[in-house]
Amino acid sequence: MSTVRTVCTVLSAFCGLTGCQYTVVPDAPKATEIASAVKVAAIPVKPVEPALPSGYSWDVPESMQGVKIRNQGKGIQKKIVALTFDDGPSANITPQVLETLSANNVKATFFLMGLHMKTRPELVKEIVSKGHAIGGHTYTHLRNPDEYVAEEEIKRWDSLFRDITRRTTRLFRPPFGNLRSAYSKAALKAGYPLILWTNTGADTTRHINAEKVYTAVMEQLHPGDIVLLHDSQDKQHTATALPHIIKTLKEKGYTFVTVPEMLKEWDAFQGQGRSKVSESPLKSTTHTKPEKIEKTEAVKEKEGAVAR
Ligand SMILES: [Zn+2]
Repeated sequence: MSTVRTVCTVLSAFCGLTGCQYTVVPDAPKATEIASAVKVAAIPVKPVEPALPSGYSWDVPESMQGVKIRNQGKGIQKKIVALTFDDGPSANITPQVLETLSANNVKATFFLMGLHMKTRPELVKEIVSKGHAIGGHTYTHLRNPDEYVAEEEIKRWDSLFRDITRRTTRLFRPPFGNLRSAYSKAALKAGYPLILWTNTGADTTRHINAEKVYTAVMEQLHPGDIVLLHDSQDKQHTATALPHIIKTLKEKGYTFVTVPEMLKEWDAFQGQGRSKVSESPLKSTTHTKPEKIEKTEAVKEKEGAVAR
């Protein structure tokens, strides 16, 4: 219905416009009555944006945009760690994880599935409002999508995320860590970095429990780690292990950062590494080049090729 028709509906008792379907009444309305009626009819409801803490940004350094991110921070000495949670938000595990993070004043990064965001938008808003970062993890997390489906899913995720949060993200993690999938190709084409991890709680493996998740993270621990965990609905072992992981990391002197913050640290380290660290694994080029696929496959084999 047009604005005029809407206003006419409200003002039907007073309307005298040519062609109007409503009855013409000889007495003119008072100015205050018209102003009041128009105000009610014309002003749309504006969505409320979740507040982000000041100084908070999800920007990705220029050298890491549109490339594969896996070990560019190798050798960093600063005791920082980025916890990441994939496949949520879930109704049972994500709230537990958020509560543990808040209780310990820890910020983390969530790589969310569109399907679950659609079902639980309130959790997406809560993650944003608590200062955590969010990245894309596709809409339905298929193992082998074709090119068309992959591109459509990434667009669909972006659109849904914007609808829920009124903002965008430039973070993306491919399902199963598969850098060769159509999802990864579509994400790179759209300028996203493919963000993997340097440490995993192996919480998707068989016969896992909280103690094994804790031990897996601690055994691989290095400064500058990006830790892979999951907050999907069957990951109670991860939610149980999380307070112990955080406690030990704090005792070891680690502080917690989001993935965008970690990438900035890696970027700064790369700059230092080129001139100061002789055994730096990084090449002396301005921008980090994508890692070779063969290495990723080797890492996946080593980790048991489990679902991520
Ligand atoms: Zn996943």
